[in-house]
Amino acid sequence: MIKILDRNFELSYSNELIQEKVKQVAARLNEDYAGKNPVMVCILNGAFMFAADLVRELTFQPEILFAKFSSYEGMQSTGVLRELIGVNANLQARDVIIVEDIVDTGNTMYNLLPQFINKGAKSVKICSFLQKPECLTAPLKVDYCAMEIPNAFIVGYGLDYNGMGRNYKDIYTVVED
Ligand code: 5GP
Repeated sequence: MIKILDRNFELSYSNELIQEKVKQVAARLNEDYAGKNPVMVCILNGAFMFAADLVRELTFQPEILFAKFSSYEGMQSTGVLRELIGVNANLQARDVIIVEDIVDTGNTMYNLLPQFINKGAKSVKICSFLQKPECLTAPLKVDYCAMEIPNAFIVGYGLDYNGMGRNYKDIYTVVED
């Protein structure tokens, strides 16, 4: 059990399991992108740890970029996510893989996709470390997902609770009081 700010969290997924899942999803990418040079866009902040582990398992040569968008909060009506750190590379005719930490309702990814498609990418695929399938409401296809998890709030392995907890190498689930 760990305490972050005012909440208790219990261990759910060990780093050993996480690494196994990362290797499995990397193997799928290695098969699908063999001989290609896709652009992999790590979505900050949450995906930094997953992206770092994932790219070290790849046998093709990706170009690795980082992007950051304003959180979805307060933007539901427009569905537009503001770009805080943008992708400067020319994506014209490139294969793009968006590397994300977690897909919950799918709204974030659904609204992000056009940002890449509109830059002329040849293909845009989503590679999310986690997905909560029960929560998906957006018409979104997560092409690569390392692990499906139930609907509960988690921290660690890049994911935060009010800015804290990203550094844990394991994943913890909130203990409801
Ligand atoms: P969506 O738009 O798919 O509903 O939400 C995706 C975003 O919500 C993720 O990128 C992440 O920032 C956040 N999120 C969703 N579920 C969790 C969770 O269990 N823990 C944390 N820390 N963030 C989450």
